[in-house]
Amino acid sequence: MDYSLPGNPLYDFFIGRELNPRIGNFDLKYFCELRPGLIGWVVINLGMLMKEVELRGSPSLAMILVNSFQLLYVADALWNEEAVLTTMDIVHDGFGFMLVFGDLAWVPFTYGLQAAFLVVHPQALSSLGAAVIIALNGIGYYIFRRSNSQKNQFRRDPTHPSVARLETIATATGKRLLVSGWWGLVRHPNYLGDLLMALAWSLPCGFSHLLPYFYVIYFTVLLIHREARDERQCRAKYGLAWDTYCRRVPYRIFPYIY
Ligand code: NDP
Repeated sequence: MDYSLPGNPLYDFFIGRELNPRIGNFDLKYFCELRPGLIGWVVINLGMLMKEVELRGSPSLAMILVNSFQLLYVADALWNEEAVLTTMDIVHDGFGFMLVFGDLAWVPFTYGLQAAFLVVHPQALSSLGAAVIIALNGIGYYIFRRSNSQKNQFRRDPTHPSVARLETIATATGKRLLVSGWWGLVRHPNYLGDLLMALAWSLPCGFSHLLPYFYVIYFTVLLIHREARDERQCRAKYGLAWDTYCRRVPYRIFPYIY
């Protein structure tokens, strides 16, 4: 980062001046990106579950589902922690208000809204309803994990047997783009899986309030915006090859819809 540039103080405050502030070897941004927020989110969820036990004697099925789904998501993110090293947050953005507030306050307190809602608004959930929601979360997780792993494996080692047979197109940079497998279904299959899970986390809260749907609505807007930013970067990086990919795989996130 060039510290001789005058900069815009508001922008600098929001995005941050320093890309990787460190204390010795300790990288503050890398540490804060997942650990405090995600672990805090799970702890808050568990606190809500315990509150339910205190109030009503046992945790409800809806609370157990919300806690289990989100615990799975957090465990998956921490297990695959090194994947954040290639994200925009780590590569482009500084450690300013956006990431500090986002990682440490926004994630644990807004992502845990469903469990907090269930403490105040208990929901009766039928076994059939629970089965449908579990299936939805399972399908979402499967698409999310398999598509992310497929791309990560392809970027790490394109000759690996699990990805070697997939159809690809060449780009001027020397890197290739997948046009079959998950990345041939839509241009962001990982976002599709993430959004199906987000919906499954809200459904146990019933349909009486909008609040538990905050996450899925916010996340849809965030991912549509993120997808557009990523497309811009990919078009700049890959030029004509990206246009060919877009013609081959016309839908961005939702097959036949968007
Ligand atoms: P992605 O994992 O979607 O990566 C996008 C990059 O993948 C592109 O820039 C390009 O980079 C590469 N790529 C795109 N298309 C292809 C293709 N056809 N073949 C090969 N490579 C391709 O980026 P994100 O960081 O946005 O998402 C990672 C995960 O994190 C997602 O599952 C997302 O849902 C999740 N997420 C969750 C959030 C939350 O708050 N819960 C917030 C943000 C993300 P290159 O070619 O340079 O490799």
